Amino acid sequence: MIQKDHKWSRRKFLKTAGIAGVGSLLAPVKQLCAASDEPETIPTRPFGKTGEQVSILSLGGMFETGSNQLMLRQAINRGVTYWDTANSYGRGRSEKGIGKYFAKYPQDRKKIFLVTKSGAWSIKGMKRELNESLERMQTDYIDLFFVHGISSISEMDEDTKAWAEEAKAAGKIRFFGFSTHSNMEGCLLEGAKLGWIDGIMMTYNYRLMHSADMRRAVDACVKAGIGLTAMKTQGGGQVRTDSETELKLAGRFLEKGFTDAQAKLKAVWQNPQISSICSQMPNMTLLMSNVAAALEKTQLSARDSELMQLYAKETRAAYCTGCTAICESCVSGEAPIGDVMRYLMYCNSYDDYALAADGFKTISPKVRKRLTRLDYSKAERNCPQGLPIAKLIQEATRKFRI
Ligand code: SF4
Repeated sequence: MIQKDHKWSRRKFLKTAGIAGVGSLLAPVKQLCAASDEPETIPTRPFGKTGEQVSILSLGGMFETGSNQLMLRQAINRGVTYWDTANSYGRGRSEKGIGKYFAKYPQDRKKIFLVTKSGAWSIKGMKRELNESLERMQTDYIDLFFVHGISSISEMDEDTKAWAEEAKAAGKIRFFGFSTHSNMEGCLLEGAKLGWIDGIMMTYNYRLMHSADMRRAVDACVKAGIGLTAMKTQGGGQVRTDSETELKLAGRFLEKGFTDAQAKLKAVWQNPQISSICSQMPNMTLLMSNVAAALEKTQLSARDSELMQLYAKETRAAYCTGCTAICESCVSGEAPIGDVMRYLMYCNSYDDYALAADGFKTISPKVRKRLTRLDYSKAERNCPQGLPIAKLIQEATRKFRI
């Protein structure tokens, strides 16, 4: 039933969400919407030196956008106007769904800061994928075009720079950059020196943001005028432990009216150097929960942050920080350890088996077959998170039936 009380506050909304759990979020959302004809929209932040203002929450498009057009409509209504997709998401279905939306609501295209990515790894392939993206999304231009998931800055060479300049001159892209979930700190630091990178999307969360290397890397990008988008901000999702810290944390956030997930978003937004958080929001409940967190202005306290860091430390063996330069060089033979750990996270923490299995299958069959025969003992000794790499590789090959 729709609540008629127009004094319903955002704080109360969050309190309800926190105490009653995610399943009960939709009722208060209706109440929030009913309080005014024009729903309140989320804040924006400048995106580096591009001159663009982007919504602090970005809609991650790794879901069936074609059959979830209402999600896209609602996102715009709430001011979530930064949309992120990739040529590879759903093998093109994500982009097609966005194209379907723009075909129906062409006037909305100019409201959206549209990002897509290419993982083609060649100039010819990137050119082809950009044209495919434009066609699928029924648009003449991409606002920000990323090279997808680099793990070393050497992948951003002079040919890439020349191609980006050409695509900009042709009006097909407005800005250019890369995304990274491996060796992020190094990629950011080196990317800041290039002078032709407009934006970067990187894995960044309460587990990673406090290290000296990450702070230095983020500072360098901000100084270079690069817009930064954080992804994987949930830090691998919930880790089910019975630690005292976890219990304390859960209790604290409930008291304040946050869910754990909302608190983790807030931890990232509290750094004004981050322009936006890209979040996979495949359903309305999650969209509205994230929107509520973006609207609510209560800051996390120093003690909250301290407890989150303690929790990160206590559960570190359950989270891969993507520092693949450390472990992958310890194995004789090709072993994409960071990728395998990420696919396991999609499966175990996001509950998205299809996405995980699809990702795992992008590893060449030859490499996949040899994965369990390699010796990971040196990699395990050097892993700063203390991950049982060999065991996890076994788990992945078993789960994804290879
Ligand atoms: S397995 Fe360990 S060393 Fe390898 S990327 Fe993950 S955290 Fe880093």
